Amino acid sequence: MIKPQKPANEAERLAALQRYAILDTPPDSAFDDLTAIAGAICATPMSTVSLIDADRQWFKGRRGLETEETSRDYAFCAHAILEPSNVMVVPDARDDARFQGNPLVTGDPNIRFYAGAPLVSSDGYALGTLCVLDDQPRQLAPFQIAALQALSRQVTHLMELRRVSRELSHQLNERAWYEEQLQHYQQELEAQNADLTEQTRTDALTGLANRRAFGVALEQALLAGRQVAVAVLDIDHFKIVNDVHGHAVGDEVLSDVARVLRSASGGSGLVARYGGEEFVWLIHDRGLSDAALQCEYLRESVEHTTQTLAVTTSIGVAVARAGETAEQLFSRADQALYAAKRGGRNRVVASEE
Ligand code: GH3
Ligand code: MG
Ligand code: MG
Repeated sequence: MIKPQKPANEAERLAALQRYAILDTPPDSAFDDLTAIAGAICATPMSTVSLIDADRQWFKGRRGLETEETSRDYAFCAHAILEPSNVMVVPDARDDARFQGNPLVTGDPNIRFYAGAPLVSSDGYALGTLCVLDDQPRQLAPFQIAALQALSRQVTHLMELRRVSRELSHQLNERAWYEEQLQHYQQELEAQNADLTEQTRTDALTGLANRRAFGVALEQALLAGRQVAVAVLDIDHFKIVNDVHGHAVGDEVLSDVARVLRSASGGSGLVARYGGEEFVWLIHDRGLSDAALQCEYLRESVEHTTQTLAVTTSIGVAVARAGETAEQLFSRADQALYAAKRGGRNRVVASEE
């Protein structure tokens, strides 16, 4: 017996075989059918689709054979793949030096006749064979050899098909995974955006609307032609609070005042922190005297209900004149605030209509 040589491209050939991920897979009736057809055409009792692994031949399809695999040393097919474009025919194994003494010839399944057509991959590697076997010596007619070769190409096509469909389903899974990740990132991004939008509108310390949000609301109210009043409220001598009690207590006082403003305004209009210890109140649909009265109520609420420390506020209020811009209106309210400061603080001053 002569052990089969390894092809010159053995490493690449094995790598190609691995790419099909076919070794040790469960039976597949499509391969069994092609195996059976090969046997029927050649009228042999045994036929296989044999794949030549590093040290064994493994049968993807088999008919008339019990064993799932044999050592590569005894494999007829391991000889057949050495010439990828030829169908190897062994009329009588006992007369062939390569197979004399081969246990598959001297014992079960007592092979005498063999014909194998190499399975050549699309990139040119002989991965195994489609072969027919008999325990009697014999010959094949040319049409049978041609049919065996044609069928071997069908086996390779089938392997290719299985590989592509496996890769496709793998890609689909990967794609589903990526889509899931993408959706996840998108949701995170949206949440972050919502956070950012909130941050651009809200004052972090007091939770009130900030200067920007106030500006937008005032512009909208003026554009809508509503009657609008703006009150600017500044804590009196707030610097002293910081100086005496520290900045942290100052912050608490600011939050406290914000809380009182929110509740005293009763949710009407918009209360915002304009900056530092200065707040603004956008009052809708009130004439000047009404608005001033409401500011007076606000001033008293702060004076009497802040809990951290007793603080007072000065307030300037103005009602929008016809055609007045937001800046002009705010500037008049601000001037009224300064008048309140100059007048002794802890008071409301209304800008003339
Ligand atoms: P006036 O009655 O004239 O308004 O006197 P005032 O001390 O309130 O005014 P001034 O503008 O001199 O001081 C305002 C102080 O407010 C100074 C500043 O440190 C303090 N301040 C501004 N923003 C904050 C803040 O976010 N936290 C704290 N704790 N203090 C702040
Ligand atoms: Mg102040
Ligand atoms: Mg101030």
